[in-house]
Amino acid sequence: MTGPSARHYDTVIVGGAALGSSVAYWLSENPDYDGSVLVVEPDPTYEHASTTLSEASVRHQFSNPVNIALSRFATEFIADFHECVQVDGESPDLGFRDTGYLFLATESGMPILRQNHEVQRSCGAEVALLTPDEIHARFPYLHVDDLAGASLGLRHEGNIDAYSLFQGFCRRARHNGVEYLADRVVGLRLAEDRVTDVELASGDTIACNRVVNCAGPRARWIAEMAGLPLPVEPRVRSVFVFDCREPLDGDLLPLTIDPSGLHFRTDPPYFIAGMTPAEDVEVDPDDFRVRREDWEERIWPNLVHRVPQFERIAVTHTWAGHYAYNTLDQNAVVGPASAVPNFYFANGFSGHGLQQSPGVGRGISELVTYGEYRTLDLSELGHDRIVRGEPFLERNII
Ligand SMILES: Cc1cc2nc3c(=O)[nH]c(=O)nc-3n(C[C@H](O)[C@H](O)[C@H](O)COP(=O)(O)OP(=O)(O)OC[C@H]3O[C@@H](n4cnc5c(N)ncnc54)[C@H](O)[C@@H]3O)c2cc1C
Repeated sequence: MTGPSARHYDTVIVGGAALGSSVAYWLSENPDYDGSVLVVEPDPTYEHASTTLSEASVRHQFSNPVNIALSRFATEFIADFHECVQVDGESPDLGFRDTGYLFLATESGMPILRQNHEVQRSCGAEVALLTPDEIHARFPYLHVDDLAGASLGLRHEGNIDAYSLFQGFCRRARHNGVEYLADRVVGLRLAEDRVTDVELASGDTIACNRVVNCAGPRARWIAEMAGLPLPVEPRVRSVFVFDCREPLDGDLLPLTIDPSGLHFRTDPPYFIAGMTPAEDVEVDPDDFRVRREDWEERIWPNLVHRVPQFERIAVTHTWAGHYAYNTLDQNAVVGPASAVPNFYFANGFSGHGLQQSPGVGRGISELVTYGEYRTLDLSELGHDRIVRGEPFLERNII
């Protein structure tokens, strides 16, 4: 990496959370990248970033090989995390808990569960199909009478500390010479089909060779500054943490996806649950109201149906965060815009961006440095599909 000249940086990254800091990290680690990097981030506390408000789970149980490969790379990165991000021998503690994911299915859901299982196995995921009896044997606290089967992740699925992941990227990137600026991007200047300058809320202007959009739920507005379409909107997701005094005998509760759409998992010494809200619409990016009505009307009843012991629980705390919800297909948009080739997207991750941040950051650094992907080919996630209106197919959306 080289240093910047006055008010000019080779790469300006908009947003410094998981994706922004991952892109910064991978660029600064790449010996073939010889440019400067500036990350512009208005909130150095990251209080409202999706990254901080994430449930921070990692799974291999997707249906699309690209998503499976991204998560398998996340697993490798998690395993080598200390070596990858350490500064002076120190790194944040990721606290990975290998609890697995358990996708439950009724009779009508079995064909899709089996198809997904085949794809996952062919991509190297360690997963097993369970009969209701097998589910009962491992997780006797789950009500199985209405189930026809389940898919269980045997290794490498679980949860991490999201803040530590992002801090690891950020600390190492700074150590490598990346600069972070506390400011907000309010405009982009273009000459013909290229971004030439980034305008900041402070009134400053930064000249650049390229821009990477990592603005999370606000990404659409950054794309619009370059005249580019991006069907990404903030959608609220409420998280409920609860205490169940009665122990659940059997294996530790994995991240369980119920046929009702509810998901819940252990979060020792507590449990955590969430569900797509009844009214799933675009919200104001400053609206962080927890949808408590969903707990009463949908989440708790479904929890009690699946785990009768959850009749006797107490909610200990709650929070709400935003998905950067891609309305076309709920999947990431990654890579340059054909219409503005020095504008790069790393957006629209919906509910699985944290685990994709290592692989997508690496992919963007390869595109910027070599003009092509060198490791995982992420071209199926490109922006051209948005322009064509052709969804990327992923069946396992949470
Ligand atoms: C409740 C919840 C549960 C989730 N669970 C999981 C999970 O289990 N597993 C998983 O993989 N993913 C999960 N996700 C999704 C994951 O958290 C996100 O996909 C990921 O954190 C996105 O990171 P990001 O850096 O793109 O966005 P963010 O973390 O939102 O960061 C965007 C940054 O851009 C900055 N920014 C915005 N506008 C501007 C501007 N104009 N100028 C400069 N900077 C700007 C913001 O201040 C912010 O810091 C969950 C999300 C939520 C909300």
